[in-house]
Amino acid sequence: MSVLIVGSTALDSIKTPKAENPRLLGGSASHAGVAASFFGPVRLVGAVGDDFPKRYVQLYERLGIDLEGLQRLPGKTFHWSGEYELNMNNRRTLATELGVFETFNPTLPAAYQTTPFVLLANIAPALQGHVLDQMRRPRFVAADTMDLWLNVALPDLLKLVKRLDAFVLNDGEAHQLTGADNLFDALKKIHGLGPKYVIIKQGSHGSILSGPRGMFLCPAYPLPKVVDPTGAGDSFVGGMMGYLAAAKGSIDDHIRRAMAYGSVVASFCCEGFGVQRTAKITRAQIDGRLKELERLARF
Ligand code: AMP
Repeated sequence: MSVLIVGSTALDSIKTPKAENPRLLGGSASHAGVAASFFGPVRLVGAVGDDFPKRYVQLYERLGIDLEGLQRLPGKTFHWSGEYELNMNNRRTLATELGVFETFNPTLPAAYQTTPFVLLANIAPALQGHVLDQMRRPRFVAADTMDLWLNVALPDLLKLVKRLDAFVLNDGEAHQLTGADNLFDALKKIHGLGPKYVIIKQGSHGSILSGPRGMFLCPAYPLPKVVDPTGAGDSFVGGMMGYLAAAKGSIDDHIRRAMAYGSVVASFCCEGFGVQRTAKITRAQIDGRLKELERLARF
């Protein structure tokens, strides 16, 4: 089955202690879309400006990503720049230039409206809600967010969260949203906002699921060297949704393995700038790391 992914389609300028790379292909929907593409069909909803390089469109196409929902608008592509400290868990946003996202109002192609799996990747919650309004009886809807929306669009975000099957956020955002210092307490409080599945990402420490069959502690794949962690969270949720859409049977039967696949794809993402590494991997490499992860976590 297909996954519809809406989110940012961006140009990212990234500085790490070792290197600097301007105008890479980035954005939450790009990272999530590339990650999901290894498992099944992906439909991308986003917007780019007239400065968006052709080679990035070709990259999406090479991965088989459907671009009917990608609008090309007059103006500049969303541009984000960030800088990492020596400890790559710490990042500073240097600039966010919305460009065409300032006026972006997606109208979904008719064929997209019946997509069974929907990933509302990180973008303004009102926009995520607007896309969800156009979907007809989706089977499973997940959304990701970021601290910015908790600060500037909390009422919109809370309205959206009520409508989700799964809400995915990181540990800092879970603390900010609930006021809870303890993550397990935060999980309970977030269920109270609506979603049946809550997933808290903890970067290189893995992720935690709370759902109808209880909790699952999903490990991160251990990487000795991180080149650029930008988009790891998006790759995690993209890989997870891609796997879930391809699996036959119930969500509960597959969600743990789906998270493990998400962890693995996120690990590849961290090994290169932007999507440079992720766009070149194969399903066999993903399966190889999944087996290793399984061995590491079994006891
Ligand atoms: P992550 O490293 O998982 O937090 O995701 C980083 C990605 O989020 C980058 O590729 C950015 O282009 C994108 N991004 C940064 N700020 C925003 C924003 N305000 N809205 C949507 N996407 C954003």
